[in-house]
Amino acid sequence: MTELNPKTEKNQWSIEDSAALYGLENWSGGYFRINISGNINVTPHGQDKQGLDLTCLLEELKGRNLKPPLLLRFDDILEDRIKKLNDAFENAISTYNYKNKYQGVFPIKCNQQRHVVEEVIAIGKKWHFGLEAGSKAELLIALSLLDDPEAFLICNGYKDKRYIETAILARKLDRKPVVVIEQSDEVERIIKASKEIGAAPLIGIRAKLSSQSTGRWSGSTGEKSKFGLSIPEILTAVHELKIAGILNELCLLHFHIGSQINDIAILKNALQEAGQIYGELKALGAPMGYLDVGGGLGVDYDGSRTATSASTNYSLQNYANDVVATIQECCKSKGIKVPTLISESGRNLTSHFSVLIFNILGANSVSTDIPPKTKDEYISVKNLRETLESLYEICKYEKIDISKLQEAWNDALKFKEDALAAFRLGFIDLPTRATAEKLTWACAKKITNHLPENPLIPEELKQLNDALAYTYYANISIFRSAPDTWAIEQLFPVMPIHRLNEKPTNLGHFADLTCDSDGKLGRFIHNGQKKSLLELHPFNSKNDYFIGMFLGGTYQEVMGNLHNLFGSTNAIHIRIAKNGKYKLDHVVKGNTKGDVLQSMEHDSEYLLERLRMGCELAIQKGKLKINDAQQLIEHIEISLRKSTYLQE
Ligand SMILES: *Cc1c(COP(=O)(O)O)cnc(C)c1O
Repeated sequence: MTELNPKTEKNQWSIEDSAALYGLENWSGGYFRINISGNINVTPHGQDKQGLDLTCLLEELKGRNLKPPLLLRFDDILEDRIKKLNDAFENAISTYNYKNKYQGVFPIKCNQQRHVVEEVIAIGKKWHFGLEAGSKAELLIALSLLDDPEAFLICNGYKDKRYIETAILARKLDRKPVVVIEQSDEVERIIKASKEIGAAPLIGIRAKLSSQSTGRWSGSTGEKSKFGLSIPEILTAVHELKIAGILNELCLLHFHIGSQINDIAILKNALQEAGQIYGELKALGAPMGYLDVGGGLGVDYDGSRTATSASTNYSLQNYANDVVATIQECCKSKGIKVPTLISESGRNLTSHFSVLIFNILGANSVSTDIPPKTKDEYISVKNLRETLESLYEICKYEKIDISKLQEAWNDALKFKEDALAAFRLGFIDLPTRATAEKLTWACAKKITNHLPENPLIPEELKQLNDALAYTYYANISIFRSAPDTWAIEQLFPVMPIHRLNEKPTNLGHFADLTCDSDGKLGRFIHNGQKKSLLELHPFNSKNDYFIGMFLGGTYQEVMGNLHNLFGSTNAIHIRIAKNGKYKLDHVVKGNTKGDVLQSMEHDSEYLLERLRMGCELAIQKGKLKINDAQQLIEHIEISLRKSTYLQE
């Protein structure tokens, strides 16, 4: 076997190779592709249209003093997602000849950012797309921004008296709020508020289904779930509403079996169960009319189309078909009119449109260079050299004897340990210890270069790759920009956005700016599984190296935190015309250092004043020159107004 020759490899590498390596076509939803320059193009209007070259865009943003890390939001993609969801239901409705309509809502908690919610409302207008609120603050957003009298405003979450009264009054304002009973004790509050105001809200009930989802969010259903009414509780609620004379307002049944449903079979069970409950409620005298199937419509993060946690084994159309067909079937057997269908899909709408771009600040790995021989080398160093030579011999053959590789590695570890012991006892100096370490890594490198694809390879040898891998230092905070990768080990597609016509010859992972050992990105998508290292290009500090994290538009911004006081990045809303020209709609400035300090109750002016006083004292003592003091204060003053990330 010959050593890899990076030169010829580079020429043999094509953009198709990159697309296959990073699985781009499988997860991109058609919104991203690689252009002939080897850069990623954003193609919201279809892959046959020109699209926008992300790397060129970054260059022009730099001209506007907007530098990575950046959150780019492509509103055309958001528009396409909303359209696709509505189209899928329209298709299903016409395929099954369903005699009612679909009218979805967007759960605000998926992305509460003002421009995002406003955009969703504007785009959704033609379908009377509504909003779902899960708290009083979210209700306030929905009430103020959603002024379409036909659009639903689904009121979920814990509700106190004021929440309920607000919803009743909003109905008088010609909005369409539905108060969904999630806890039994809300029934009493609804009845009381209705009596006091002299008007009732539209009422819904969230059912605790017995059909349980699998995976991360399976706790959202079942008897132990936090929300929803059990069947006995539903019966009691209906009874109480009837006595209070407001059963005629009970119009909606809601369920939510958890986010990111991976397996469509689970949804089908839930739909059947909910369909039955819906019919029973009608039989008990509630007018009904609406069935809200909640969220859970998943995103295929790794593009594998499997029922694994980072994927889904169904398409958007499969989902819509199942909802429509199953509910139709239930209603038919009960001889009742089919309901208007509502879904609360968030993840599936807002994941694709935002792309997090960060730059690499540096990269390093253990040195595998072979140090030159000196005379009279220490015995352990000599032994390590011999082990390395034996590895060259073992690796000469076409068919490599794995047991011999293992034996050589055991020897290398033993000789390295000998060298360390000698160092501890003072027999060898620092340079000799360095030589021993380098030779050990050179052995490891030789082994990993020649490790055949074979499932029987000892784990210890396979893991050598991890030990030799590069660490790429990323100009972001995982805790701020990709919190779910840390909190719940979520996978997002991550890949370079340029140099894709060049073979990525390094294996590496990312370390972020925080001083937290958890602040890293070391799990990557891999055909329905995951891998700990990503193929990356050699880094050169003279050139920018930009990495994109994709499909992170849902939940990440609000779940992100200020760990180590890294604040939000700049966020930019971009519209792309069919000819590839673009327009920046909004630039939402990220946090400055002053902002994040303020959030911890530190006042910038006070901190500056304290520093100035410290300077005066040092000047007085003759330790600091006036010039230097001035320069220090100016640095801090400027810095307080700037981003928390590294910019120059
Ligand atoms: C979180 C949530 C949603 C959104 O779920 P997705 O899986 O993101 O679509 C919808 N409905 C309720 C009640 C929720 O709590």
